[in-house]
Amino acid sequence: MGEIGCASNSDYSRGNGLKVMTQYIFVTGGVVSGLGKGLTSAAIGTLLESHGLKIALQKFDPYINVDPGTMSPFQHGEVYVTPDGAETDLDLGHYERFTSCEISAHSNYTTGKIYSAVIQRERRGDYLGKTVQVIPHITDEIKDSIAKVGSTDVDVVITEIGGTVGDIESLPFLEALRQFGHQHGRENVLFIHLTLLPFIKASGEIKTKPTQHSVGRLREIGILPDLLVCRTEMDVEKEVTEKLALFCNVPVESVFIEKDVETSIYELPLVLRQQQLDTQILNHFRREPGSGNMDNWIEVVESLRHPKHEIEVAVVGKYIELTDSYKSIYEALTHGGIHNNTRVRFRRVQAEDLANGDPESVLGGVDAVLVPGGFGERGLEGKVNTIQYARENNIPFLGICYGMHAAVIEYCRNVLDIKEASSTEIHKDTPHPVITLLQEQHEVSEKGGTMRLGGWPCKFKEGSICEKEYGVSDVSERHRHRYEFNNDYRDQLIEAGLSISGTSPDGNLVEVVEVENHPWFVACQYHPEFQSKPFDAHPLFRGLVKAALERRTQSV
Ligand code: GLN
Repeated sequence: MGEIGCASNSDYSRGNGLKVMTQYIFVTGGVVSGLGKGLTSAAIGTLLESHGLKIALQKFDPYINVDPGTMSPFQHGEVYVTPDGAETDLDLGHYERFTSCEISAHSNYTTGKIYSAVIQRERRGDYLGKTVQVIPHITDEIKDSIAKVGSTDVDVVITEIGGTVGDIESLPFLEALRQFGHQHGRENVLFIHLTLLPFIKASGEIKTKPTQHSVGRLREIGILPDLLVCRTEMDVEKEVTEKLALFCNVPVESVFIEKDVETSIYELPLVLRQQQLDTQILNHFRREPGSGNMDNWIEVVESLRHPKHEIEVAVVGKYIELTDSYKSIYEALTHGGIHNNTRVRFRRVQAEDLANGDPESVLGGVDAVLVPGGFGERGLEGKVNTIQYARENNIPFLGICYGMHAAVIEYCRNVLDIKEASSTEIHKDTPHPVITLLQEQHEVSEKGGTMRLGGWPCKFKEGSICEKEYGVSDVSERHRHRYEFNNDYRDQLIEAGLSISGTSPDGNLVEVVEVENHPWFVACQYHPEFQSKPFDAHPLFRGLVKAALERRTQSV
């Protein structure tokens, strides 16, 4: 089982000089899906970091896809990209926004990823003729994957298990966690179960039975939750928590109420802190508390509650009806707002609605426009029209990935008058492929995990908006694309006022374009939204909100 061994009790200590080994929190969910296990896990990470602990966060997804990279955004929401180029679940975005944990390909395992590792090993003959089975081989693989994030300098690993207790596909994961708890000692493993307390309007009551049943399901598997976190829309009376404690076999101090937050998800760490969730966890692990300083979170929430200004940003995309599809973008815009003391309102616009007709009727009055990444034909023409409107009306604009492709196409069509300019992603035989397949992609036929992925370096041109906003000229940003700017059009575009303001260090791949003689127009090949935090907004989102604010103040 790799690096994991059973530790004797004497290995763990508080302040008596002995080394404290990595400890583990497992977050399961019951009653219904979509309760916010990812956010809760991230907020627990925030609390532990406030006590000076180094944490790692990880998610298990019990579906069969090897990763969500091949799934439709309608199915899965945003695909979150790690610095080492893994396509992962969007909950990892919460992990990075709420904590300073390092994420990597090991931070997200699906059933598909676990099984494919075991099957590859079986094909290599590593099992020496044994029958390969769910128990022990799949469960061992799951336990090994937990060990991969629990490196020696990590104090606490927090692993979230996707899905709901009772799902058939979750069973191998839960069995692995049960074994893990048994092997590592109950004092080094903490099980947190997140459930829902529904409010029945007709009787005016909060019901505890679904929680009792889901804890019962966990117990059947051999897992006894140590802490319960109960989601609710209403305030919860003391008798309800006492009842939950009694029937679910936990002390009453171990029942936490997670009522819907009022203003923002960034209140969550403070809500849990107020109920001393951090103290309970530290006590369980027999660790000394640290400073517990949460000042930056208090400031973030204050700024969200009482902003000085307000702006409206149009986000023009293809998957607009599902906010999860552009999760990190909305969060990063909010961060840009926090930095500028500004509430950012979103006008979510379906790109197709702009394919024909007057953009003014859809976009009129917005202070900034953002066109996010995307795939396929639907929506391209609407995005191009949107960008023309933003460019010609001096509206601050940020284009991301496909949004950058659309910006280049727009400039070619409307400034260089190359009317048939397009991307070969959409029109294979276009006479003007201003966006083409990356050289390295020509031989690629498999879809999963084969795009240009992860962190790649980018160098900014002196005097560019990017250089000014970032304050440095060399950065690393995360990518997820197959198509790129076609250098055959580079000189014409530069001459026509489209500045190539960011490239790969060898100057070959165009990473950012900016429109000269425009107050703020940036379109980047990479995804800046993956590196933004509530108290440390990404430079481009800070810059976009600032430019929007300036435009608004000027027009008043
Ligand atoms: N579809 C485009 C490509 O593959 C853009 C991808 C994206 O926006 N993430 O290059």
